[in-house]
Amino acid sequence: MAGQERVIGVDLGGTKILAGVVGRDGAVERRREWPTPVDSLESLLAGLDEAVEDLLGDGIAALGFGLPSRVDQRTGRAFGSVNIPLEDVDFRDRMQDRFGLPVGVENDANAATFAEWRCGAGREARNLAMLTLGTGVGAGFVLDGRLYRGWAEAGHMVVVHDGKPCRGACSGRGHLEAYCTGLAADEAARDEFGPAADSHRLVRLANEGDERARDVLAGIARILGSGIGSLVNLFDAERVVIGGGFGAAAFDHLVGPALEVARREALSPADEALEIVKAELATAAGLIGAGLVAFEALDP
Ligand SMILES: [Zn+2]
Repeated sequence: MAGQERVIGVDLGGTKILAGVVGRDGAVERRREWPTPVDSLESLLAGLDEAVEDLLGDGIAALGFGLPSRVDQRTGRAFGSVNIPLEDVDFRDRMQDRFGLPVGVENDANAATFAEWRCGAGREARNLAMLTLGTGVGAGFVLDGRLYRGWAEAGHMVVVHDGKPCRGACSGRGHLEAYCTGLAADEAARDEFGPAADSHRLVRLANEGDERARDVLAGIARILGSGIGSLVNLFDAERVVIGGGFGAAAFDHLVGPALEVARREALSPADEALEIVKAELATAAGLIGAGLVAFEALDP
């Protein structure tokens, strides 16, 4: 009864582990949450084991993990995560040995993209890009009707030559991530409205019709549009899904100016077909995507 099979999807975040039982259609049952143990790799893996064990039962056919890391799909190895002690781990082998089930592993942004494509705002697009605008910029691609399973760091695409320094460990300048995140919006809000302002207030003011707030968000959106225009030219992306905490909250203010600039930059006929849409699955995308990755491991 292949249609009845279920898998466990685990979305590992910097502050919480989100796990659930996922069906082939992306439906989630028994969704649970645990705090992420961050003091050592051993405690982190123990926390993931506990999440899986809590959900294991009859009919669980595979496990899928979304990790905030680069993942080498040939070896199943996870490399360097920013906020958690997961570095250079043979993650897929470790979990296969531990649980004796097929295991799929994917970068968390790729997993979320997979979920939006199969079950959310990206349905039926042949070429799709997803950008999650949160603390940073996460990105993923569906190319020619398949999830691109490599490294997709579109947040570190240059959109302003020699522009603002990027954040964290990135030594680059003028990257999308320096302009189009919630943190960048916090900074822009403070510049415009004083030290007490942040991105939440900026969006609230824009919702209330404040012209200055709308202008600030339009400025962020135009830079976003430059990046999207380049993605369209590179990958013929017909649809771009915008997610993430800031991206979803500010979407209505971002979409117009972003689309205008992206269409200006994109070559014809991709410019006319381009749609920019809001993510539909919100915080469930990573968990659902991890589940879908488990099904990929089950029937590659
Ligand atoms: Zn960067």
